[in-house]
This record gives sequence, structure tokens and C-alpha cells, in this order.
Amino acid sequence: VTIINDKNNDTTNDLNSANDDNHLINLEKGDPTMFCSYWKKLDNECSVTIKASELISYTINHKEADFFGQMPEFVEAVKRVHRVVGNAVTEGRYVIGGTGSSQLFLVALRALASSVRKTTNGSNSSNKRIPVVCAEPYYSFYKEAMEQEKSELYEWQGDANTFKPESNNPYIEVVTSPNNPDGRSRKPVVKGEGGVVMYDLAYYWPQYTPITSPADYDVMLFTLSKTTGHAGSRMGWAIVKDQEIAKKMKKQIWLTIIGSCQEGQFRATKILQFVADRYEHASYYKPPNNMYVPKLFQIEGVFDYGHRILAQRWEKLRAIVQRIGVLSLPDFSPGFCNFFQKPTSSVPAFAWVECKTVEDAEQITKKLKIKTRIGSRFGSSVSERFIRVSMMGDDHDFNLFLERLSSLATMELS
Ligand code: PMP
Repeated sequence: VTIINDKNNDTTNDLNSANDDNHLINLEKGDPTMFCSYWKKLDNECSVTIKASELISYTINHKEADFFGQMPEFVEAVKRVHRVVGNAVTEGRYVIGGTGSSQLFLVALRALASSVRKTTNGSNSSNKRIPVVCAEPYYSFYKEAMEQEKSELYEWQGDANTFKPESNNPYIEVVTSPNNPDGRSRKPVVKGEGGVVMYDLAYYWPQYTPITSPADYDVMLFTLSKTTGHAGSRMGWAIVKDQEIAKKMKKQIWLTIIGSCQEGQFRATKILQFVADRYEHASYYKPPNNMYVPKLFQIEGVFDYGHRILAQRWEKLRAIVQRIGVLSLPDFSPGFCNFFQKPTSSVPAFAWVECKTVEDAEQITKKLKIKTRIGSRFGSSVSERFIRVSMMGDDHDFNLFLERLSSLATMELS
């Protein structure tokens, strides 16, 4: 099978080459296509082949009943990459693969909501829906997915900063750290007795933020989309402490989609094992002079690549924003990254841009033919002076974005 995808072509860093492009640049979604040019160089090392006769059964090992369709190799690869990076504790935890962390978000909510309902009321009979909150600005998907789903178990109640739980009533707080859209590190904000916290750690990887300690929470969500850029494989994973919650999640996956996609797990396993090998072995591998150096060690690691590209992009964007004057970007203080073993700065996957002089920042980006996501999608009290811009697209579109932004006369903004 030949997959034709222009985005896989190596892109150019040359700003001038983009001069006569006049198309709409879509920086609205967090599509991590900046990783294409990295993986292009590793096509021979990291591709997977699946024979027509393979992965036929619903179960992974059809001799032993494995009803939840989790490949042991996938679970091991996930645990290994977290051990190598040091960004999450996985020992003694359950790893549950899903169709992106988007699926796992709803699956985990259901499991948590049904368990807090039970704990607080002693039975499952209460028909009060469990409030789910997240501090503004929050990742727009949470609200939109939950309103689409209309669950009988839980309901979206918006901003965690203004949410006041009644006595010890149950609630679920979602903590996204680093946060989408603004890149900030976060902690829970609700003070309540009956609450549980779900951590969405999609961006807790060294390319985006310093890794300061292994995350060790009850329910944590990660995704291949933001770890290595393979969003199309739709593989995410939850790391869960409690056996009952893990069981509920697996049951939900089994009863709704009859197990996670094996092709996705197979590919994710290959990619994650490669990443773990690259970092685990590179630290002590010193080839003697004139000896053949395996490809694994010739190429920079994916986290170094991601951090380097994002840091360059942030630097260029900050320079333009500073020159224009009326736009602003969040500042981040550097922190010591245990993974890179040096201080690094946060270079988030999104730029949270504020335009201080207009009421609706989208007016400006529309004029420039740049599609972005407007502030109000991230919370009802978030100003439309904010827009979220993806920093993870390919070079060509990103450079075009910078070029169009720098063409803005300050006059147009004041
Ligand atoms: N969580 C956050 C914070 C995200 O930004 C995204 C993707 N934009 C996801 C989860 C979903 O990732 P996926 O479904 O691709 O695994």
C-alpha cells in the first residue's frame, strides 16, 4: 500500500519560498505535522508491516481469553518510554490503550463518575449527575464532547475556579498540565471533600516543558499524537492506580468497541520502543573511530528534535510579536529538566495570543487568511481578544503564518 501524503515531504525553512502562497493556513487544530520531517528520515527503521493473515482475531492471544484487546508489547512499550523519560510512574499501575486519549477521556469520566457516585451515596441509585469542571481557559474538546454525549452519569459544569462543591458532594476536576491552550503547568483548584481529579498529561513531555518529576496521580491520560506526532494512529493510553477504575474502563471499551485497535497498538509499540532504545542506549554508546554508527544513534532523538523546532518557532514568533507591540504571549520561566539534564524553557504546542487593542482577535487572523481558535471556545468568560495558534504544523505553513503576521502594520491593530 502506498500512502500519498504531501505533508510527509521534507519542508523548507526558507521564508522567501512561501512568498506567493495565498491559501488559508489552518493553525486551528493541534495537528502535529511538524514531526513528519523527523520520521521521514526513519522510514526504514520504524515502519511496520502487517501480513494479511495477521491480527485477525478479536483477541490478542486467542488461546487465552484476552477480552480487552491490550497487547502486552504495547503496555510494556508505554511503561518503558515513561521510565526512560521519567515523566510518569507506571510500576504497579494499569495501562489501558484507547482510540486516542479523546476516547479515554470519556471512558475514564464514566468510570470515575460511577465510582464516586457509589462511594458517596452508598448505592448507584442517585440520579444526580456528577459535575465535571476544569479551570478556564480549558481545552475546548472537554465541554464539546460532553455536551455531545449527554451522559446520564456526569455533566459539564465549566470553570473550576468558580465551582463550589456542596458539602462533600462528588465532582470531577480535570487538570490539563501543561495546559491546552495556554501552556501553563497546573494543579487542581477546587477545594472539596468528595472530588476526584483526572490528569490530562498529553503535553507532559520534554519537547514541550521541563520534566521536573514523574507524575504520580490516580488517573493520567497520555497520547501518541503529542508524544511522537502519530495522531493518525489514534493511540492514547490511561495510567490508572485503582484496579476497580481500570476494570470499569476496560469493560466500557469492550462493551462499546470490543477492544482497542491492534494495528494502532502494533505501530505505537514499534515507535515507542524505537524512542526508548534511542535514549536508553545513546547515553552510553560511544562508537570507536571509523566504525559504522547505527542509524539509531546518527539521528537526534525525537524529544530533542521537537524541543529544538518549537524553541526556534517560539523565538521567531516572540520577535515578531514584540515588534508589532499590541499582541502578547505568555511568558514561562525556565526549569531544570531531569530528562535533558539541564534547564530548559517551556515551548508549548500552542501559542495563546492576546490582542490588546481589538475586541475580536479573529478579525485580524481572518484578514490574514489564518485559521485559529477563538478564546471563547476555551471558556465562557475567556475573552475573544485571545486566540489559540498551533505551533505544531509543518514548516511551510508556520513560516507563512510568521510572514503574514509580520506584514501587519501596527496601525491595523490600534
Ligand atoms: N488532551 C489534550 C490536552 C489535547 O490537546 C489533545 C489533542 N489536541 C488530546 C487530549 C487528544 O489527543 P488524541 O485524541 O489525539 O489522543
